[in-house]
Amino acid sequence: VDLAPLVAQLGSSGVIVDATDRARYEEPARGRRGTAAAVVRPATLEEVRAVVEWARTNQVRLLPQGANTGLVGASTPGVSSNDGEPTVVLSLERLDAGLTVDAGDRVAVVAAGTRLSALNAAAARHDLHLPIDLSADPSLGGMVATNTGGSRVLRYGSLRRHVLGAEVVFADAAVSVVTHLDAVRKDSRGLELPQLLVGSGGALGVVTRVAVALTPVPEATATWWIEPRDEAAVPELLAALEQDPAHGELLSALELLSVGALEAAASHGGEGGGVPFAARRPPVVLLAEWSGPSTAIDGLERLFARLVEAGLANDAVAVPPARSWALRHGVTDALRVRGVVLGHDVATPRRALMAFRADARAAVQALVPRAEVSDFGHVGDGGLHCNVVFPHGIAPPTSAERAAIRGAIEAAVAAHGGTYSAEHGLGPLNAARWRATTPVVEQAVIAAIKRTVDPLGLLGHRDHPYNHASLGSEEKPDRA
Ligand SMILES: Cc1cc2nc3c(=O)[nH]c(=O)nc-3n(C[C@H](O)[C@H](O)[C@H](O)COP(=O)(O)OP(=O)(O)OC[C@H]3O[C@@H](n4cnc5c(N)ncnc54)[C@H](O)[C@@H]3O)c2cc1C
Repeated sequence: VDLAPLVAQLGSSGVIVDATDRARYEEPARGRRGTAAAVVRPATLEEVRAVVEWARTNQVRLLPQGANTGLVGASTPGVSSNDGEPTVVLSLERLDAGLTVDAGDRVAVVAAGTRLSALNAAAARHDLHLPIDLSADPSLGGMVATNTGGSRVLRYGSLRRHVLGAEVVFADAAVSVVTHLDAVRKDSRGLELPQLLVGSGGALGVVTRVAVALTPVPEATATWWIEPRDEAAVPELLAALEQDPAHGELLSALELLSVGALEAAASHGGEGGGVPFAARRPPVVLLAEWSGPSTAIDGLERLFARLVEAGLANDAVAVPPARSWALRHGVTDALRVRGVVLGHDVATPRRALMAFRADARAAVQALVPRAEVSDFGHVGDGGLHCNVVFPHGIAPPTSAERAAIRGAIEAAVAAHGGTYSAEHGLGPLNAARWRATTPVVEQAVIAAIKRTVDPLGLLGHRDHPYNHASLGSEEKPDRA
């Protein structure tokens, strides 16, 4: 590809071709590394437009990339992407200037490359935050493109709920820029374009700025670890915590860790025997968080005494929030260190989650008895990371086993009325399932939008479902 016009426009620091310098943009957080023809790093809206114009002229695929923490293979090029169709990574990391916080309106407007941590550091000066909590530090553009969830969806919803506006560059013939950043809280002028970009995975437009609603930072937070009576008691425990008249409204997270996930995180973080209930090794433990006025989160001991007396919990212990979350957020890395991880980001209606979990675990154990199901996740919102681990020292999964495990988990999630992508968005990893299960009319709507905003089909990973040749065709989905 002829990069000279881009070098002239963005300067040499804006265009990376050297293989060593490209490496970190090509290596996904999960999955196999591909190859990019180049990485371009625009620093302004005008430069983003220039890159899109260049891609149209040269018919080159552009892959928007934020912090590259995505987990569905959508932010890095395919393994053989230089065969026939080169991909240029469009990194938004330099597009991070001009953050503004309107404390009175509780709104922030941020450039797409801004990290969540930088937004929250600026918002904290006004006792505000974007209450999305996860162990990675994504960019705001990537968060829009994936509809980030995290641990506090139970109370605050996923990113979609916080998006008030966006500025987007499309790859239509005019390389249009659509700007909706007034951040009006209510607006009923039909469909909202910024919301359409939520979850679009870089395949509809390049998000350059985002307006988000902020929330007051709670005065106090408490975290407790709970040993449920057994796995079947988890839904009842959630209901009891939510219905508690004094504290129910203040519940901000309820996480589940299987024994495998907890022990991996504990040994990875050097916690040794200091983890809650370590000696008894219960099959699952829960981590609950409450946040609000300090006077209101007192009295949790009495709540737990009642839950133990009612036979829903065996035990509960208060652990400081920083330590609790360090342990919880350590799980993903800890499992990766332990061996090969097959991740499955699923959710069901909350009432069905534990039944789904039992079915999925049984199906995986029957298929690959040598693997460990070290699942964990956000039970408070019905989400679970159904991660299957092949520890170092045992045979890694064959590709047939990978496919069989994914198929079994996705079949179980469908049987319980759930979703195969709870919070990680769409990408090559789940494209086949999207095509197989999305009704024809929905695919046709996406195809019409795609044709309007990206008629040459240049944006997003080539294996993103919105880039599939049959998008919107009359092929009948099998609803599997
Ligand atoms: C350790 C770890 C823990 C995680 N925990 C969670 C969790 O609890 N909850 C959760 O929801 N996710 C989690 N994730 C996944 C990940 O952090 C999110 O999906 C995140 O929103 C991705 O943002 P990013 O900036 O890294 O995007 P990238 O990975 O760079 O890109 C992701 C997608 O967004 C597109 N994209 C990026 N920027 C733009 C833009 N400006 N315009 C248009 N498209 C764009 C890309 O093309 C790609 O399709 C975790 C990841 C890791 C590594």
